[in-house]
Amino acid sequence: MARYDSILGTVGNTPVVRINRLAPAGVNLFVKVEAFNPLGSVKDRLALGVIEAAERSGELKPGQTIIEATSGNTGIGLAMVCAAKGYPLVIVMADSFSVERRRLMRFLGAKVLLSPAAHRATGMILKTEELAKAHGWFMTRQFENPANADFHAKTTAQEILKDFEGETLDYWVTGYGTGGTLNGVGRVLREKSPKTRIVVCEPADAGLIASGAPQAYNANGTPAGGHPAWKPHPMQGWTPDFIAKLTSDAVSAKYVDQLIATPGPEAIRLSQALATQEGIFCGITSGATFAGALQIAATAPKGANILAMLPDTGERYLSTPLFADVPADMTEEETALYRSTPMFTEPAAA
Ligand code: PMP
Repeated sequence: MARYDSILGTVGNTPVVRINRLAPAGVNLFVKVEAFNPLGSVKDRLALGVIEAAERSGELKPGQTIIEATSGNTGIGLAMVCAAKGYPLVIVMADSFSVERRRLMRFLGAKVLLSPAAHRATGMILKTEELAKAHGWFMTRQFENPANADFHAKTTAQEILKDFEGETLDYWVTGYGTGGTLNGVGRVLREKSPKTRIVVCEPADAGLIASGAPQAYNANGTPAGGHPAWKPHPMQGWTPDFIAKLTSDAVSAKYVDQLIATPGPEAIRLSQALATQEGIFCGITSGATFAGALQIAATAPKGANILAMLPDTGERYLSTPLFADVPADMTEEETALYRSTPMFTEPAAA
């Protein structure tokens, strides 16, 4: 640990942690725990990366309002960066995403505008563009801004190379939302670690890349409508209803060696298993990525090094299906345990 000039200095440099109890024998399975970022997700990197790139280019003016369409983690990361740097922030978010995300962003000083879930991610982006144009706000364009991927190339990828220095990283496993992680890390691994196989996980119900169907784009790189293979899925933060430009560019550059389809219930089961059997507390997309990593581990050669990205903290999902089976009241077993000693008798009412 060191001293930092602001909270922004603590973004990145997340730990790589060995999986002990959930890993099959004979392989080295690791996870990169992005929950260690100051606001608990991989998107803190994007927020800092895109804002500082826009400051450098002069596209973002001092004190200018920033606006973005986001499923939550980007908004929370942006809210932190904007608070630390003094920019007003407006977030447009689908009303189907978890309530704690909205309240977190408002707690950090952002304005949160809710767009109807029926308008899907593409509608949310159209609304954001409309507002940015009408008010002269700066739109961070997380889905196509090259600064998103560049920051992953400069930070996430370098951290991974350093943590596997002198060894071979045989498999790197990730999902995608914007594709910033995949695009930026993929680019560097291809050049500096060509033996690493890049494994990309998608929701089983929304295999957009697997479908092979092309995504149409507008001239500015935004999606021209939703993708035909998309269906709603529980992995908040993964696979919006279109293939983002950054993801599509990563696919065209042949960064994807293997695709894995992850079912939603498996993602939830493995997020819970990481918590109860490894003490690693992470969200649904982390469980989903870990599901892919376990599939790789099952057939990987002896001694293989496998690294899976865990994008965020589980704390963000208290009101979602991740916690649906976690009771708030004492279970029968807990009640029986409480009553298993006679020591404490309740004081008589006055
Ligand atoms: N998981 C979660 C929980 C996320 O919020 C995101 C970002 N949308 C991702 C995974 C995917 O990261 P990326 O945008 O870099 O593809």
